[in-house]
Amino acid sequence: MANEKILTWIDDLIQLIRNIYKEDKILLHRPIFEGNEKKYLDNCIDSNYVSSVGDQIREFEKGIAAFTGSSYAVATVNGTAALHVCFKLAGVNQGDEVICQSINFIASCNAVTYAGGIPVFVDVDLDTLGMSPDALKKFLLKNAQVKSGCTWNKNTGRKIAACAPMHTFGVPCRIQEIRNICMEWGIPLVEDAAESLGSKVGDKHTGTFGLLSAISFNGNKILTTGGGGMIITDNKELAERAKHITTTAKKPHAYEFIHDEIGFNYRLPNLNASLGLAQLELLPRMLEIKKEINLKYERFFNQEGVSTLKVNTDMSPWLNTVILKSFEERDYLIKYTNDRGIMTRPIWHLMSKLEMYKHCENDGLPNSLWLEERVVNLPSSVPAGTLQNA
Ligand SMILES: *Cc1c(COP(=O)(O)O)cnc(C)c1O
Repeated sequence: MANEKILTWIDDLIQLIRNIYKEDKILLHRPIFEGNEKKYLDNCIDSNYVSSVGDQIREFEKGIAAFTGSSYAVATVNGTAALHVCFKLAGVNQGDEVICQSINFIASCNAVTYAGGIPVFVDVDLDTLGMSPDALKKFLLKNAQVKSGCTWNKNTGRKIAACAPMHTFGVPCRIQEIRNICMEWGIPLVEDAAESLGSKVGDKHTGTFGLLSAISFNGNKILTTGGGGMIITDNKELAERAKHITTTAKKPHAYEFIHDEIGFNYRLPNLNASLGLAQLELLPRMLEIKKEINLKYERFFNQEGVSTLKVNTDMSPWLNTVILKSFEERDYLIKYTNDRGIMTRPIWHLMSKLEMYKHCENDGLPNSLWLEERVVNLPSSVPAGTLQNA
């Protein structure tokens, strides 16, 4: 019994992964540079504009705005910085609360804290891993009241200044319903779309539902600029404010240095934007290839009767995800695959369990707790060489 396999299909899964990725060491999500990356970086270096000003920044912003269908896009040094500015501009001030998911990457909660806010956690849906509009509604009906145009937490006496759902692993949460609830309560919606470039709800891109949203271009995301992020919004005034405070809040002047508030140096270097422009050319094809891989996983796990995190349209998730039956199965899969050079990883520890956030209010989080023990991400990169042959 001791060496009997807990998951009968584990070796078949490894075979499937090795057929997709013909590499010895298979990473979870590695970047792929098979377009104009080196050429654009060379051009950028030759231009001398490698830092905080340059044409490529503006072009990259335009490109992301066009791709997402957002009116405005403001490039930042990373996704966390983008989120920080989103919360600040949404009106989160010292001591305000922000409704967050507990299933989340740490950056989302940290950005709330940078803005002076305090996260409160509501549960996620089992089939999206994203914030549950049902849980949100229940939390507000039980704990919130509207007074003088704002929503307040009756238990803490604090203002609820924003709601920040996240599209986990690139799978959209029920954002339209969340948006409606937020509008009903007058709570600004900030979407963490860091993981969901290319994912839409109907024909509307994730990140275009909120007042402000953040995207990440970290090295492990779908499109990378090395490090980088983007704020997207349809609000012209907020876009101008975002540009201003991410670039040290310097007033335009031919030679004087006058800053009219405490801004940030959150600028995306032109060098990184150049990389982003080359990646943007590859993005449609990358998403197609990622969709093909997702279908291979789906077919396999359907056959084996294993639950997966489903994307229901032509979308490609950032990370392919299985939901196992137990913690024991989860651990077995992670150890077995990593021992064989195939990187898989568990979902994040819940934010509500971390030292910094364990005192924050939550709604009991039954689904989040259940998922934390069972979710595993599988290798999801675009395989090397596939873009060259495109
Ligand atoms: C990656 C990520 C971020 C932050 O992005 P960085 O560019 O790494 O700062 C924020 N939120 C979520 C959910 C992410 O996955």
